[in-house]
Amino acid sequence: METKIANITEENLTEESVQEILKEAGDIIKAGGLVAFPTETVYGLGGDGLNPDSSRKIYAAKGRPSDNPLIIHICKWEALEEIVEDIPKKAELLAQAFWPGPLTLVLKKADKVPKETTGGLDTVAIRMPDDKVALAFIEAAGGYIAAPSANTSGRPSPTLAKYVYQDLQGKIELILDGGQVCIGLESTIVDLTEEIPMILRPGYVTKEMLEEVIGEVACDKTLMNADSSQAPKAPGMKYKHYAPKGQLTIVSGTEEKVVCYINEQTKKAREAGKTVGVIATDATKPLYQASVVKSAGDRQQEETVAKELYRILREFDDEEIDVIFSESFGTNGIGQAIMNRLLKAAGYHVENV
Ligand code: AMP
Ligand code: MG
Repeated sequence: METKIANITEENLTEESVQEILKEAGDIIKAGGLVAFPTETVYGLGGDGLNPDSSRKIYAAKGRPSDNPLIIHICKWEALEEIVEDIPKKAELLAQAFWPGPLTLVLKKADKVPKETTGGLDTVAIRMPDDKVALAFIEAAGGYIAAPSANTSGRPSPTLAKYVYQDLQGKIELILDGGQVCIGLESTIVDLTEEIPMILRPGYVTKEMLEEVIGEVACDKTLMNADSSQAPKAPGMKYKHYAPKGQLTIVSGTEEKVVCYINEQTKKAREAGKTVGVIATDATKPLYQASVVKSAGDRQQEETVAKELYRILREFDDEEIDVIFSESFGTNGIGQAIMNRLLKAAGYHVENV
């Protein structure tokens, strides 16, 4: 299969040729095919969420285990009522506050949602993305797009269309290229089937933001911890995700000690014939001696780090870096999501210096 790429942005959305592409994308989905599309979080790999064959194709294209459920993306409120058994008050409040946006709600599924889409579960994860291209595509495709991130399972989620192409060329019909995504990390997932709503995956919408709207919110204890004996409640979180090819170590401590430690380790790795990459920040980039040093952004504005993190991990793969050191980030606000992804990418390997 040849994978076509089409440029489509908020700016050119109303042009006739772009409207034709949207229609083509919608027709592909309705015929059971797959289309990758931009959202504000990461690129999604979309299929018809109500068609079990489409969901099977998504798992096959990604090489994703079929017990790892997909998120259904909708473009209007009424669509939610169609695919869940009921809408608890707290779900309504959260959707009002954060949709369209980077928040996924887990609710009891209605019968029409196939178990292929939910990885065999009786619950379904739903989100309305805050991206004009995504919303127009969902509308054109019938309103229910099952979409995990558009990467090969186990690789960093794509924040640019070229990375979708790298992973999925020849496996899907079309990629809608909307440029670099805005947030860069996957949505926050909240389970509303529990008495106390629970965060299953941290993201841009933080615990504090949720609590302002619905009161107490719990956090799945497995999120920041390697050796919990409990299984994570979002099936996807149990898999080794976001793994770069090089061996990644997170180094935590004062700036001076971190720089010193990473420079020492760089020297050792070089002597052993290995290539070294460092994930730094704007202020510390000039201090490192490794041959490849990349700034993830401004430590004072961690959203900038969230946006560039996956791109950097992928670039290290392309550059065949053997050993990667990363600075550590805060665990408040978006920092929690950054650290959750980095810890997974590092197999929870942290050096405290
Ligand atoms: P992705 O879209 O690739 O980020 O993956 C979707 C994430 O949502 C995975 O971690 C899934 O395990 C999680 N997820 C989807 N549906 C459910 C559900 N019904 N209950 C719990 N987690 C879910
Ligand atoms: Mg994913």
